[in-house]
Amino acid sequence: MPSLPNIDTSFLTIFLVDLLNTPSPTGNAEPAVAFVEQMLKQYPELTLSRTRKGALVARWEGQKNDAPRALTAHVDTLGAMVKEIKSNGRLKLSRIGGILLNGVETEGCWVLASRGKKVRGSFMFNDSSSHVHGAAVNETKRSEDNMEVRLDARTTSADETRVLGIRVGDFVVFDPRVEVTEGFVRSRFLDDKACVVCIVAAIKSLHDAGLQPQQTTYFHFSNYEEVGHGASAGIPSEVHELLTVDMAAIGEGQESDEFHASLCIKDSGGPYHHEMSNRLRALADVHGIPFKTDIYPYYASDGEAFWKAGGDVAVALIGPGVDASHNYERTHTEALTATTNWLLAYLLS
Ligand SMILES: [Zn+2]
Repeated sequence: MPSLPNIDTSFLTIFLVDLLNTPSPTGNAEPAVAFVEQMLKQYPELTLSRTRKGALVARWEGQKNDAPRALTAHVDTLGAMVKEIKSNGRLKLSRIGGILLNGVETEGCWVLASRGKKVRGSFMFNDSSSHVHGAAVNETKRSEDNMEVRLDARTTSADETRVLGIRVGDFVVFDPRVEVTEGFVRSRFLDDKACVVCIVAAIKSLHDAGLQPQQTTYFHFSNYEEVGHGASAGIPSEVHELLTVDMAAIGEGQESDEFHASLCIKDSGGPYHHEMSNRLRALADVHGIPFKTDIYPYYASDGEAFWKAGGDVAVALIGPGVDASHNYERTHTEALTATTNWLLAYLLS
């Protein structure tokens, strides 16, 4: 078993911060797809292509070609859209994916106005003033119907807001609020940009060491995962197995943490491929990669999307532990390094 090549952890962190700061809600993920594409263009070993749906696929010829593989991670994130321009000039939103309303309450956001410029604002409870609404501010359950975007623009009517160029269906992106402190990375949308970056860091690591994957490998960067059908298309039919790289869910009763990678044995879609999962465990053991095994109670992945679309492949799922998922998330570089090492071990096996 060869030892694993070095990981450029400062590259990993810088690229992650930049990717996190590139807004990419599902349906408008192109800026992040293009950003990853630009990064991968510098590796001549890769042949890049796009699916018609807009996902990015990078092919790397392996030493062998008898059992090609694919890895997938998603660049799209949670977000929102303008549902309604209200008579007070503010915006009612429709959520994209499972973003938590109380998780983004008071968060800064940009409205990507389709007929105008970006307009700044913040996402607020309708009755936010404690001095006007008293206990109701604390006690009312948040819903799409009682929250709104307060625009940083002089508008008090729907017509004035339309003059800004804002229309129903315009994307709204929340500030990721990225911070790196003591090895912790705190940001919205580490799901799944952290794993996209682990894959890119693994590619760089192989390239820098002059290595090549054992099997021909397709790296699939999905753009519709958060709504359930990301990798349902775009995985080439010659592929024998699919390694899904997505965050591990941390919380009470979970094994996963921010300092390990996790192997997901089962989630809402049922068990993953037993033999492939066992092979990944064995690889982690051989290379001393810190990992946990876990079950995610409310979770689905792009690997299962491909299975449900008829993909006849083995599917497994690994990824770094991410605290407070779909909320204000956090992980640690130890989990990112463990995940990247695991990818390297797999690619070289
Ligand atoms: Zn995810």
